[in-house]
Amino acid sequence: MSPVRALLWRGPGAALEIEPILLPPPGPREVRVHIRAAGVCHSDLSMVNGTLAPAYPLVLGHEAAGVVTAAGPEASVAVGTHVVLNWAPPCRRCWFCGNGQPWLCETAGAPTAARGATADGEPLHVTLGLGALAEEVVVGDHAVIPVPAELPFATAALLGCAVLTGVGAVHRTAAVRPGESALVIGLGGVGLSTVMAARAAGADPLIAVDVSDAKRDLALSAGATHFLVSGDDLSAQVRGLTERRGADHSFECVGRSATIRAAWRATRRGGQVTVVGMGAKDDMVSLAALDIFHSARTLRSSVYGNSDPDRDVPDLARQVLAGDLDPAALITDQITLDESPEAFARMSRGEGARSVILLP
Ligand SMILES: [Zn+2]
Ligand SMILES: [Zn+2]
Repeated sequence: MSPVRALLWRGPGAALEIEPILLPPPGPREVRVHIRAAGVCHSDLSMVNGTLAPAYPLVLGHEAAGVVTAAGPEASVAVGTHVVLNWAPPCRRCWFCGNGQPWLCETAGAPTAARGATADGEPLHVTLGLGALAEEVVVGDHAVIPVPAELPFATAALLGCAVLTGVGAVHRTAAVRPGESALVIGLGGVGLSTVMAARAAGADPLIAVDVSDAKRDLALSAGATHFLVSGDDLSAQVRGLTERRGADHSFECVGRSATIRAAWRATRRGGQVTVVGMGAKDDMVSLAALDIFHSARTLRSSVYGNSDPDRDVPDLARQVLAGDLDPAALITDQITLDESPEAFARMSRGEGARSVILLP
């Protein structure tokens, strides 16, 4: 086991550090992937800022693309294949997979998995079965999705989380139709990807919301028709743009009770509220019983965009190569692995969209 470098979190209060880790050789149906690009996603921040309570020491990262460099004898993917990592690979055998809902697979999406060791031999955990903020990963062959080699790595990485989630929330969960109004709250990578997808679906007006004016230009260039700074009058402002009714669709891309309630209040009677952000288990959302009945709104979540990544990531890759989808616009910072702790600091300050780590 030769060491590779990875972004490691050693538990509450510890700083994020680049450290050497030891990965096991690929098992019979596993592959080793040389990571070439990895995004820093808000769910990685949730691992270390107290929102979630993952096992540690933990390798962060779950949105990445690279090249297969070694494969077990029974692996379905050959050495040299360019791949996007899949943080919720479906088993294809459980009830949910059989029911056409592979994003709810019983075996997929655990926050962490045990894999490898620190340089001094302490057992290690990896984020969402991947631990992709690293020079290499060893994962099951069902956790990689082949993509064309001409797809740029930075773009490919984003297809594995932000883009699949945003596009799926709009097209698969909410099924936005042309001319419907849409509200998107929270403009990180997933939120901006949701704006982009809602624009492509023909949402109008398309109202993007964030906590400060800093995201205005990003929102408008992603296709928003209006940008609002969130505040107590958000619902009134949205009604002012939607003939007093409220939005047909709201997408909450933060994962907090306050923004879920804000999305709920700004949605029209009979409209749909889609929760895309992953929140904390003790952050309770309070809604009045009468309001639930009278508003006739639908409140639901979108897990990994209600997508089947094996089907949908190659489809997104085709759209990118055809020029119909441009996730590169989501990338505000291209940095090295050594600079990745600073990307977490930027994200917790609410700055920028996606930071993408590029590896040689
Ligand atoms: Zn993510
Ligand atoms: Zn399954």
